[in-house]
Amino acid sequence: MALPEPLPWHEGPWRALAAARRAGRMPHALLLWGPPGLGKGLLARRIAAALLCEAPEEESPCGRCRACGLVAAGTHPDLTVTAPEEEGRPITVDAVRELCARLALASHGGGWRVAVLEPAERMNVAAANALLKTLEEPGPETLLVLVSHLPGRLPPTVRSRCQRLRVPMPAAEEALAWLAARAPEAAPETRAAALAAAHGAPLLAETLLAEGLLELRAAVLEAWERARRDPVAAGALAADWDRGRLERALGWLEGWALDLACLATGAGTEALGSPDLAARLRALAEGLDLIRLHRFHERVRRARRLARETQAAVQPLWEDLMLAWSGEELA
Ligand SMILES: [Zn+2]
Repeated sequence: MALPEPLPWHEGPWRALAAARRAGRMPHALLLWGPPGLGKGLLARRIAAALLCEAPEEESPCGRCRACGLVAAGTHPDLTVTAPEEEGRPITVDAVRELCARLALASHGGGWRVAVLEPAERMNVAAANALLKTLEEPGPETLLVLVSHLPGRLPPTVRSRCQRLRVPMPAAEEALAWLAARAPEAAPETRAAALAAAHGAPLLAETLLAEGLLELRAAVLEAWERARRDPVAAGALAADWDRGRLERALGWLEGWALDLACLATGAGTEALGSPDLAARLRALAEGLDLIRLHRFHERVRRARRLARETQAAVQPLWEDLMLAWSGEELA
């Protein structure tokens, strides 16, 4: 297994960190933040590999030594990666205590010990509190990397003890060039559509292409448009969905409902989460009752929670929403 390739838009934060390290100002806690789909977790692993590598080249991991191999395989004893046990679940206090205990031990390799928390905003209050002591008094050669696309959800006590490092959204040109190398079989206009649907985030665009999700996104929007006239047909779209597809669909629907609220209050295309769909969203927003829209948005949020946290059946969740959107129930 190989270390993840460096991504072009990681170069800025990477250089900033390398400079800090050269100057002897390597932080003990980092908050890597930026929109989803930029590979922040991959960057966290490369940072860990750079510290643990046995033969680093300048500040980069060599990718060939035993330590780099162990980081790539996820089995390096001086690297702890803490994530929710299941997607959508919190990072628990027990998991954070275990992380802190491992950081307090002497390092196996005699050098750095690194812990990555991802997504850090998933720590519940008790977990965040458990982390504070380690953040306040990290041992020598200890690095905690918090990865988050919602840093505002972290307690200020945690945030203020981390050095913030923003992972920037690449320029469209750079993102498209990267995407062309990763998905050469897709037509250029398909790649551009995927990047637009991913709000500019290249890794997200790659996933949309690889999993055929662009077609799904188009079908979901079509069903929503259709639900006003024919909620039954719109509901039937979910007949062969698995939970993953439902969660994607609900995520889009929630974003679009917010976009409709923006449009209904006079915002321009630049304020939208899905500017590529502006014309169709504008048509949906026409004459829309904001209270009704707000109720619908709440229902979508509730459905998302149910889809994530319970075993609620997939199709009924979707059908309910299409029916709700079609009329009576939300009035
Ligand atoms: Zn190495």
